Amino acid sequence: MQSTAPAVEHYKLHFAIDPKSHSLSAEADLGVRNTETQAITLVPVLLYRLMDVSAASDGAGHPLRFTQKVVKFPDEPTWQVNAVEVMLAKPLPPGQTASVHLTYAGPLFGYPEVMQYVRDTISEQYSLIRAETMAYPIVAAPSIAGWRQSFKNKFDFEIETKVPAGFTAVCSGKDAGEAQTREGTSTFRCIGDAESAQISVAVAKFRVLDDPERNLRVDVLEADAEAGTQVMADMRRALDFYRSYFGEMRRAGSLTLVEIPDGWGSYGAPGHIFQSAAAFKDRSRASELYHEVGHIWNARASEGVQRARYFDEAFASYFEALAVRKFEGPEAFRALMESYRQTYLDRVARDARGRTVPIAGYAKEEIGVFSYTKGAWSLYVLHQLLGEEPFRRAISDFLAAYSDKPAGFDDFRHAIEKSSGRDVGHWFEQWITGTDASTMLIDGKSVEEMAGAR
Ligand SMILES: [Zn+2]
Repeated sequence: MQSTAPAVEHYKLHFAIDPKSHSLSAEADLGVRNTETQAITLVPVLLYRLMDVSAASDGAGHPLRFTQKVVKFPDEPTWQVNAVEVMLAKPLPPGQTASVHLTYAGPLFGYPEVMQYVRDTISEQYSLIRAETMAYPIVAAPSIAGWRQSFKNKFDFEIETKVPAGFTAVCSGKDAGEAQTREGTSTFRCIGDAESAQISVAVAKFRVLDDPERNLRVDVLEADAEAGTQVMADMRRALDFYRSYFGEMRRAGSLTLVEIPDGWGSYGAPGHIFQSAAAFKDRSRASELYHEVGHIWNARASEGVQRARYFDEAFASYFEALAVRKFEGPEAFRALMESYRQTYLDRVARDARGRTVPIAGYAKEEIGVFSYTKGAWSLYVLHQLLGEEPFRRAISDFLAAYSDKPAGFDDFRHAIEKSSGRDVGHWFEQWITGTDASTMLIDGKSVEEMAGAR
């Protein structure tokens, strides 16, 4: 068996969801590219264990031979998948692309035996299609390693989901036009940009709360409509606060919150949060919403810096704190910053690199998780150092300048210095390129002490 898989670049999926029979039927067009150094003849595809392929063809509609067999992953034997192999009509040279069309169908009952939270099913109450269940074709060799490798691919997608009238389908992309309802079914269309790595489609009798002026949307189950209204109000006030603080967003940002059943595991996708019902109803978690809305204002990080997660997660975490300061007062703000410090200490106890590697080295070490805590503190100390209005203006100027062009750490420093007229070299050395700040955070120094430290 060929152990490598081509990279998927494009998905065009058509789902017909039948809640009564707990099943779906699908037509899938996959655009793949051979990223290997040798020609390939097989396209390995993984599907949910109870879903069967009934036909395969190429881009021109000519039938392709295929095999399928339910197998266990060799590196995770509890995980059973339908391993499909499609034989291309002729070898695909390195760098070239091919189209594969699959027709498949079957029921969906989750993978609780592999991942406790993957209880995804298709039912009258709730249906969820996501990568974990392979309810859409995953182009990968049949192993955990192959499955993981497939998520490194970036692709665009178009999805059409046909559901019985009364149901709403929401996907992890943008709506493409109004839903079409006829003869007892509704069809929803959505598209995902070329940076997508996963696809989600949720289907239920959602109450859709829409705020087109702010590009906010909440899809809530009927029974939780009241909680949905509250969640929408929290998102709205966060968005209005960031607008007043940082100025209008420069890029078309949007945020859609989709309720999922309890125990199915909350998760995020670009511009989307799939949030479990309990978290949905918990008012004490409003600050998580402020964080997610804050991401709409993120600058673009340059490629080598992105994995540091500084320009997204440090910023969203500190914006979250600023929203808490605005809505809950200075005390709640300080408590949140101290909780970031505590999380930092807990993480450093498990991984000392959080202390010894400077923020500028996070990307290389893949320890961007520390940006949520120490990264947020770096902005807190910068805020203290510059003062209220110069900080607000400097951050706003930086975000505006780098909303569409990529920023690195030096760009950030220069933007701050240009806007504020201050030399922040010492702060930069302590927090970004050096590690003095780690010691100060761990020693419990106050923000005033840190800003004054020489
Ligand atoms: Zn975040």
